[in-house]
Amino acid sequence: MARADHSLPDVALTRRTLDRRADRRGDPTLLTGLLADPATRVFRLCGDATAVEEGEGHVVRVVLGAPVPADADHLVVYLGEHGGAQHLGVVEDVPADAEPRPGLRTLRQVGARLDDLGASLFATTLALANWHRAHGHCPRCGAPTVPVLAGWVRRCPADGSEHYPRTDVAVIMAVVDDADRLLLARGRGFRSAGMSVLAGFVEPGETLAAAVAREVHEEVGLEVDDVTYLGDQPWPFPSSLMVGFTARARGTELRLQEDEIAAARWFTREELLAAVADGSLVISGRVSIARRLVEHWFGGPIEAPEVPLR
Ligand SMILES: [Zn+2]
Repeated sequence: MARADHSLPDVALTRRTLDRRADRRGDPTLLTGLLADPATRVFRLCGDATAVEEGEGHVVRVVLGAPVPADADHLVVYLGEHGGAQHLGVVEDVPADAEPRPGLRTLRQVGARLDDLGASLFATTLALANWHRAHGHCPRCGAPTVPVLAGWVRRCPADGSEHYPRTDVAVIMAVVDDADRLLLARGRGFRSAGMSVLAGFVEPGETLAAAVAREVHEEVGLEVDDVTYLGDQPWPFPSSLMVGFTARARGTELRLQEDEIAAARWFTREELLAAVADGSLVISGRVSIARRLVEHWFGGPIEAPEVPLR
């Protein structure tokens, strides 16, 4: 598995700005001390959305505030240090049927335009919140677990076992043929014009390159060579890491896995541009590594309306 000389430029949600200061998480007074300090910067996640404001040059910033007494009633996680300030994430759960609060935006909506700090705070808090929401009970004995280590571990009071946030690794790949055409596929559940590059979860006991080859073969019946790593992206919907590749197909004939893939076809650059322009093709949004993989093959940015694939 080779690594390309020119990896993906400017993938959203990937820039490191926050010093996570994992060394501080073991201090049992850390969260209460920071909640009592008005200099602490609090990122508030309400359901899966947060408050944002327009910055300069089309950039969006998350709105950070000082701690308030009600924060202590919610899940609180220590996010780290930036510019000399300490950052907390406060996670407020909202009922699924609640009216969306005005002014709040989801990571999918604003991720492509967030500044680096906002992207780090939002992606990290959302990933942790999703994990806490889904892992409230001990996998050994079923007892309710409690957050410890500033929100980075859950511990079972009954048997003392500790449970760590999980990340589900997925591969996502731009498959090209010998004529340098790109393969796009429409997953079951996509909108009728929606198509994207292939993707799938890595299975236990499998390498990344083997997962690329298996997923391509299962979904469209192609064998691939030259599996090349291009970059990766945290994708907390709810808990993935997307690892991006290119791969070269040995043939062009497609055999679709019909319960997962509704359609698939090869595109030249001209065909792709024309289909995007006339609306017969909707491609992945700017926030996603899928879009960057398509643009890496294309050779530059593609202007396309921001329409959800599903
Ligand atoms: Zn237990």
